[in-house]
Amino acid sequence: MQLDTPLVYVKGVGPYRAEMLEAKGLVTVNDLLHYPPFRYEDRSNLKPIDRLAPGEMATVIVEVRGVRMPKLGRKNVGMFEATFGDSGRNTLVGKWFHGAYLANVLTEGMRLSIYGKVEFDPYKGDLFMMHPEFETLAADDEDGDASLHTGRVVPIYEAAGKVTPKMMRVLTRRVLDTVAPLEEFLPAAFRAQLKLMDRWAAVQAIHFPAEDADLRLLNSFRSPAHLRMILEEFFWLECGLALKRTKAKAVEGIAFSLNEQVREKIKAMLPFKPTGAQKRVLGEIAKDMAEPHPMNRLVQGDVGSGKTLVAAEAAIIAIENGYQVAVLAPTEILAMQHYAYFKNLFERLGYVVVPLAGSFKPKEKEKIRGYVEQGLAHVIVGTHALLEEGVRFQNLGLAIVDEQHRFGVMQRLKLMEKGERKPDVLVMTATPIPRTLALTMYGDLDTSVIDELPPGRKPVHTKHVPSSRIEEVWSFVGREVADGRQAYVVYPVIEESETTGMKAAEKSYLHLRDIVFPQFAVGLLHGKLPQADKEAVMAEFKAGRVQVLVATTVVEVGVDVPNATVMVIEQAERFGLAQLHQLRGRVGRGGNQSYCVLVTEKLSETGRERIRTMTDSSDGFYIAEMDLRLRGPGEFFGTKQSGMPTLRFANIIRDAELLEVARNEAEAFIHHPPSEEELRRAIHFIRENWQRRYGLVQVG
Ligand code: ADP
Ligand code: MG
Repeated sequence: MQLDTPLVYVKGVGPYRAEMLEAKGLVTVNDLLHYPPFRYEDRSNLKPIDRLAPGEMATVIVEVRGVRMPKLGRKNVGMFEATFGDSGRNTLVGKWFHGAYLANVLTEGMRLSIYGKVEFDPYKGDLFMMHPEFETLAADDEDGDASLHTGRVVPIYEAAGKVTPKMMRVLTRRVLDTVAPLEEFLPAAFRAQLKLMDRWAAVQAIHFPAEDADLRLLNSFRSPAHLRMILEEFFWLECGLALKRTKAKAVEGIAFSLNEQVREKIKAMLPFKPTGAQKRVLGEIAKDMAEPHPMNRLVQGDVGSGKTLVAAEAAIIAIENGYQVAVLAPTEILAMQHYAYFKNLFERLGYVVVPLAGSFKPKEKEKIRGYVEQGLAHVIVGTHALLEEGVRFQNLGLAIVDEQHRFGVMQRLKLMEKGERKPDVLVMTATPIPRTLALTMYGDLDTSVIDELPPGRKPVHTKHVPSSRIEEVWSFVGREVADGRQAYVVYPVIEESETTGMKAAEKSYLHLRDIVFPQFAVGLLHGKLPQADKEAVMAEFKAGRVQVLVATTVVEVGVDVPNATVMVIEQAERFGLAQLHQLRGRVGRGGNQSYCVLVTEKLSETGRERIRTMTDSSDGFYIAEMDLRLRGPGEFFGTKQSGMPTLRFANIIRDAELLEVARNEAEAFIHHPPSEEELRRAIHFIRENWQRRYGLVQVG
């Protein structure tokens, strides 16, 4: 069997199972070898039932003594119970809700290995497990050798559809027994430096650990075999990214000159003294822009840190060199805000700024496209409508992309293809990205961080209030508004559908307008409103004529109203941490003390932790780390197109330190390869093995 043999040809797979394996991304023999168990059970040294203690997780080898479906009166409650015994005196009960299907699976006399949490029923005096995992131990043809499943440390895989964990074990063993030993590809120096295990030995040990393997290390993914495979995965990923950066630097771009005229213009534009961090980041950007290669830079900065101002300075450099600038925002509201912001800043410099969005009338769009194509507009600000065919630039020099993760990498590239020569790209994100995630997600970008807020900002006071005490919140809001301040009241939008959030917001709007604050001007903003209404409400709020703005999450990004000092977030438990932090960033933008009130219903354990994180900290990076920890990397960015590579062995949170190690080694290797031959071999390996599985890395 070859590594690239499709799994459908492996004995025991067949088309039906092959399809289910494929759904998990398992297509070839090689894929299966790189599909590690998520847990290990020591079935070599098991406790009998007599020695189980309530509260522990345990694996027990048992025989089914009896099964029943207990009834409540005459009603079937859908609970399935099996009584298990072994050679000792005591029995153990397994219980399954909605377990009726098990009546055909578990039959008397059957031998099983079961795994679960041991619990004690004080009324019956029984030990039991709720929904234990189990495997039948009968060795039929399908199951291969019984010694695979008992009497040893056993790998537990995630099932793939109807391919059970046990079947996965059988298939993996079969594949390991028939393929030729895997070749080693990691550079020898890297392996020697970190004393890494050989590749073939590591893959074997991950699936079927040696008898004396340390179960604790295995289950924490810290066995020597795990370390080897995790570091390997990170190493290739980082090599791919390093190659991509190198390649990008070799492309011909525009070398902007940063002369006295540019400096004068920037000085004339600046409405305030830039912070130290803003100056430093502009310096980094200007240096990139002066290079004859395209800039690919990510500017991270907490909400309100003044990224837009820095972007405006970069735009001046491009424009004074005779180039056009595109500004791309994720939503129409934000695009129009950026438009207003740039127009306002650039008016006195004599630049022409134009907006473009999907909702514009065809005639209007055409007119604006004309301005851009003929070079009459210096800056065009818009949504993804900018990326659509038909928008041509006379000479695009700089693309500024706000809130990058909402666009995805593909669109970023599409934008770059617009110019004659590759324009510089500046990505701004207000979502502070934990360093480890940034290293992988944006590993092909250089990064700048604005880590200082403009002077005079007071940290926002954050308070948690249960919804039963909402009246107190309203009286607080009333006092602030009576003092001349403004307030947001925000409702979550769940999933794609705006409807639930919109209904809640509408209801609250009527209640606040008619009953709670009849003396104030209350406005409503949600995604389903016509664009013109949205803009009108925002304009009224900006002008201070709307005092309380009830909204769904459309206000999440970018809204800048310094006089707003209160952010009330309803059903705060339904928001992610990053989102809460974004919302909170809408206040505290002026000189007045600002407040964020998190109103919640009943809280789960993680819900409580999330709220506590918010009341404890205003540091976006800390909050993002917590978010990543509480939700996991997959959900952190919410979208499939976020460009996150799928990792098989490594986990960016758990293995953050290993990522740093691998990154340094990869950089060194790519820039100072021990030999051309080794570098070629590595590039070949990345192409063969990484490009398909980890779509992000396109090398050569
Ligand atoms: P971000 O985009 O990073 O969230 P903005 O660029 O929108 O932040 O800036 C937030 C607010 O701070 C805006 O009102 C902006 O005008 C103001 N601001 C930006 N830089 C400074 C500065 N150096 N001094 C004072 N205010 C600033
Ligand atoms: Mg901004």
